[in-house]
Amino acid sequence: MSKMKRKNSLDSWLNPEFSRRKFIKVSGILASAATVTNFIKPTPAYALTAGEFPPDPLESDAGVDIKYSVCLMCHGSCGIRAKVVDGVLVKIDGNPYHPNCLEPGERLSYATPVNEARNRVGTVCVKGQSGVQTVYNPYRLLGPIKRAPGTKRGEGQWVSITWEQAIDEIAQILSPYADTGTLIDPSAPELGPIANKVLFSPGRLEHGQKEFTDRFFKNQLGTINHRHDHTSICETSHHVAGSLTTDGKNNHFKPDVINCRYILYIGTNPLEAGFPMNPLSRKTMEFKKRGGKMVVVDPRFSNTAAKADQWVPIKPGGDAAFALAMIQYMIGNGRYDGTYLSNANISAALESSPKEYSFTDSTFLVRIVGGRAAAYLRADEAGLPGGTSSEYVILDESNGTAVALPDPANTSNPARRGLLEAPGDSIVVNGHTCKTAFTLLKEQANARTMQQWAELCGISVSVIENIAIEFTSHGKNAVANPYRGPCKHTNGTYNVLCILALNTLIGSMNWKGGNTVGGGHWHEADGKGAPGSVDVTSVPGGATASGIQVTRVKANYETDAPAIFARDGGYPARRPWFPHAQNGNFQEILPSIADRYPYGIDVLFTYWNDMVYTTPAARATYEAILADESLIPHFIAFSLEPDETSCWADYILPDPSYLERWGTPHVAPTIQTKVSSFRQPVVGDFDADMNYTPAVGDTMLIEDFFVAVAKRLGLPGVGAGAFADGDKLDNAWDWYRKLLNNFSAESGVSANEILAKGGIFEGDEAAYDGEYMAHRYQGIIRLFIESLATTKDSMTGEFFDGVPKYEPIKDVMGNELVDDVAQYPFALVTYKPVNHTQSRTIVNPWLVQVLMPENYVEMNASDAGSLGIETGDMVKVSSISNSVGIKGKAKVTQGMRPGVAAISQSYGHWQLNSRPTVTIDGMLQDYDAGRGKGLQGNQVLRLDPVLGNVTLQDKIGGSASFYNSRVRIEKI
Ligand code: SF4
Repeated sequence: MSKMKRKNSLDSWLNPEFSRRKFIKVSGILASAATVTNFIKPTPAYALTAGEFPPDPLESDAGVDIKYSVCLMCHGSCGIRAKVVDGVLVKIDGNPYHPNCLEPGERLSYATPVNEARNRVGTVCVKGQSGVQTVYNPYRLLGPIKRAPGTKRGEGQWVSITWEQAIDEIAQILSPYADTGTLIDPSAPELGPIANKVLFSPGRLEHGQKEFTDRFFKNQLGTINHRHDHTSICETSHHVAGSLTTDGKNNHFKPDVINCRYILYIGTNPLEAGFPMNPLSRKTMEFKKRGGKMVVVDPRFSNTAAKADQWVPIKPGGDAAFALAMIQYMIGNGRYDGTYLSNANISAALESSPKEYSFTDSTFLVRIVGGRAAAYLRADEAGLPGGTSSEYVILDESNGTAVALPDPANTSNPARRGLLEAPGDSIVVNGHTCKTAFTLLKEQANARTMQQWAELCGISVSVIENIAIEFTSHGKNAVANPYRGPCKHTNGTYNVLCILALNTLIGSMNWKGGNTVGGGHWHEADGKGAPGSVDVTSVPGGATASGIQVTRVKANYETDAPAIFARDGGYPARRPWFPHAQNGNFQEILPSIADRYPYGIDVLFTYWNDMVYTTPAARATYEAILADESLIPHFIAFSLEPDETSCWADYILPDPSYLERWGTPHVAPTIQTKVSSFRQPVVGDFDADMNYTPAVGDTMLIEDFFVAVAKRLGLPGVGAGAFADGDKLDNAWDWYRKLLNNFSAESGVSANEILAKGGIFEGDEAAYDGEYMAHRYQGIIRLFIESLATTKDSMTGEFFDGVPKYEPIKDVMGNELVDDVAQYPFALVTYKPVNHTQSRTIVNPWLVQVLMPENYVEMNASDAGSLGIETGDMVKVSSISNSVGIKGKAKVTQGMRPGVAAISQSYGHWQLNSRPTVTIDGMLQDYDAGRGKGLQGNQVLRLDPVLGNVTLQDKIGGSASFYNSRVRIEKI
């Protein structure tokens, strides 16, 4: 065996003997010392690389530098305050200016000078604090590597190369594809040009970087496959549902937690995986202190359920049934806000008492054709005098006659109120049978009896009714909040549409203590901010991307791809198309490439993307695809270490950790004030031209890399005159300097102050406007989704339904999947524990060895008892798609719905230096076996039985299914 290159194993990273007492003692030495002594001086770096707790110097100690940046241990974007000693990051706390880190009344006013902030800290969670170990992770790649000549992909044989060589070779690879003039297939021009055969897929990429890589791949190179991000394995169907209800204007809603009085969390877990978990945890505790009531609907007793007033262990996939049962009860018992729902346009909403800032389509007439809700009735179809095809039709509230409703979002149109229901539920207008959108929702809710809904969701009628009563007992101060749980099903979008309808019925949008869209942010990139802003995304003389993404998102099979449609004989398509999946389709990337449908990809770039590990049912199929150079001739991965995906690459390019780069991440709408965080390196060095050298190894910022590649290729948009205002782009700082300037132009805050305080943060007083949120969504909220009702499913050729509904679990052809309960008795769910993200935090020893060294197969005590399984027993978990299965330890609990098993994410790595699989320059690299502990549940999730090489998925939202798989559990 080759000599190990690195000697330190994880066991020595974290010395279990290093007690809290010893830690305090070391801190005490620092506190009492006027200067950092020679004895202590090397300790921070040693402690961090060795995994020990480093000393935490006082702010008053000499040599302690305080820098503000932004966390990326999860997507929460909490501001951080980094203590740096002698160029070494030793401690991370929360930025006291940042609203993620302190509550109103505690947070520093933005006007507070930085020197007065020095002794103030905000909160960060345990993941955030362990970010120091992401920087000093001893297994990080120290420079770019290339697959060793003569070896195959995945063999783990690498040679070091210089960045110069990487830039030269990758520019050479890209050169033939900088072509937006030659079509991929002249017989199918809709597919677009050769440039589209380059695909960029980031796993975790945040604002600032997103706009930069979009600019390179889309506007300089010209590929339509410029950003296939991970959202479809995260939570996309709730974004899509939200967007469908608001005409694309908003796609993410959160309760105003502190002021809310009743929160119904459905499949969301703010105290573990919610982002931002750090402020959500604080706000939830404050909410509880103020007497708020929290009900958690989740098959697993999560951290959030542990703090709830009521835990409702729903059957996985029963979300729509639960919500529709509530709707049936609410409508049947008059427990909805009829005044709000009768407002047919914004003028009526603004004039109503109480005043509203949103309105709904509840009163809009919808044409019923062949028994289905086909489309809104338009005024010309209704035969109304002067009626046009752009006007809706309502039944006037005063006399029930059909009247035209011109642009309902235009405040200059007169107020209109309509009847919620036609007399007798339907009405014939000019020969068209019509129902109101409200009636259509009511009919869906009444499609089954309460008892039938209760059986489908596994919650008793009395529990559902009590929740419906309580939900409707707090006026506008109640919110039903869905997230990943309802989303990650084949019926994910409909599940969320049903849940969002609960909020619509009580009209809680925009109210203090109601449903909110958050405070928003200043504009960093698009030049929309203010005079003086520059659209830095545009490239003078750049390319225009066109064609269809390889995953067929935002494209309609029949109308956007007429040549492909004709070639393949119409319906069904060879693979599904996703016209509504605005956030992409991550799980379809590799299977689509393998099927070359609708075309192949020649150059695959990934960035912080471990799709083989993180995607359901992916391992065997994805590994086979990535191994095959005839399917993907070039694979370049940006990755800190060879992980389960980048281990198959031809090149691995290590960009720096998040604490060694810039970024402008946005926060979730949990925060009700305007926030623009600014990430910046807290360690590393700059030269006079602001060229940045990261702290660890010979790593390179992705921005610097692509600027260099673009220059090699002679692409426009770099060097002198790169931007519309003539400014230059020579390095990463040039890009972020432009973003900073845009922030400054819009906010009036200087770039230096933004850097000094880690961003721009509106004051707490800006959150509310009397009884309303100050930052509001003003516009329509739809119950009927016409764009769905008029779109055909590419596989069945039938129209989607436009009304929120219950839909069983189906394969891609629309066949209902009937569970083999005898063979596979358990529904399997996965989740993120509080100390981890999906895949990458296993490298942080404090989060593993200190908190939870391995994960488990969690199951209810009654199920375990019947199988003779006890906590700690080894079990095998297998499924219809993976009979070999996975093995791990059982954990027996009462906190699980019987018949359900759960496996947390993050554990059970088989690459990521968890085994001796990586050889660089002939030297076998050391590994950390602790990263392989536990098991990884994605491997037994279910493949779509029709397609065979991709997981089950939601054809509307594009979500991968994580919660529609059944498994067998056996003691071994
Ligand atoms: S919640 Fe997320 S962003 Fe905030 S401190 Fe924790 S890991 Fe960092």
